[in-house]
Amino acid sequence: ERLLMIQNLQKYFPADKNQVVKAVDGISFDIYKGETFGLVGESGCGKSTTGRTIMRLYNRTDGKVLYEGRDMDELSEKERTKYQRKIQMIFQDPYASLNPRSTVRDIIAEPMEVHRLYPNKKKQNERIYELLELVGLNREHANRYPHEFSGGQRQRIGIARALALEPEFIIADEPISALDVSVQAQVVNLLKKLQVEQGLTYLFIAHDLSMVKHISDRIGVMYLGNMMELTTSDELYKNPLHPYTQALLSAIPIPDPDVEDKRQRIILKGEIPSPINPPSGCTFRTRCPHAMDVCAAKKPVWQEAESGHFVACHLYNQEIMDKQKQEVTTS
Ligand code: SF4
Ligand code: MG
Repeated sequence: ERLLMIQNLQKYFPADKNQVVKAVDGISFDIYKGETFGLVGESGCGKSTTGRTIMRLYNRTDGKVLYEGRDMDELSEKERTKYQRKIQMIFQDPYASLNPRSTVRDIIAEPMEVHRLYPNKKKQNERIYELLELVGLNREHANRYPHEFSGGQRQRIGIARALALEPEFIIADEPISALDVSVQAQVVNLLKKLQVEQGLTYLFIAHDLSMVKHISDRIGVMYLGNMMELTTSDELYKNPLHPYTQALLSAIPIPDPDVEDKRQRIILKGEIPSPINPPSGCTFRTRCPHAMDVCAAKKPVWQEAESGHFVACHLYNQEIMDKQKQEVTTS
């Protein structure tokens, strides 16, 4: 069952000299109820912008976001407020996203007060204590300030705040990237536990594939504002189709030092081009080890190469590959 449908989402930002940054350039995907959808790509690929545009922190340039089949733009003010409650965000940097002058109580109370959730302070406080316990903290923590906590605890406060409005869908934008490796797994486990207990759906944004593998049901791989590949987590690791995904996977170290790493590490040439002036055709072509002439001329279509396995790459387009062969044999 689809919770969200993202259709041809586009977000451009104005840049110098009347240019535009094509941060997100027409991506489409669905998010199913109860799943964790991992969105992966190097920094600057548009994954955070995608999250923020879905969250409506940014106005989109084009495309649609449907929540439970309804276009968020076509809701009345009152309905939109209701829907906005259902979508919350957890940020990468728990240091920057919590007001240092507010107590934990006030941080969690703020969204509750904006939406007038509780008839009185007593009820509100009860809920705040409940939330603190839910994320592995306790009521004693309510009167303290963010600087009194460790990074992992601060992210727990951020999670409690995100849960304050009883959301259905949470966008977690690199929620563990700023944390020590030793606490990353704890926060991931907490998110998983909450998902089951609270019936949550996640969009989990990450810059590499190592952690998302364990948390995601399906994964989308982005590069320079475009979606390159999308399939289930297992399938992506067993059978990556896109040359970019193959390179990303080859860069993940094997955790067990006793296991010999026989994989060929794929080193990509060059840097990510500027999203102001992305390459014609396939945006990955300047770094792709398999690039062909057609890759500069034509943008690959987003196609279902195998059941539930989507990819944007000419290598999987029968028509184009047949033509390539013909050209090779006739020349
Ligand atoms: Fe590489 Fe061409 Fe496929 Fe792009 S379309 S990933 S350049 S082979
Ligand atoms: Mg980001």
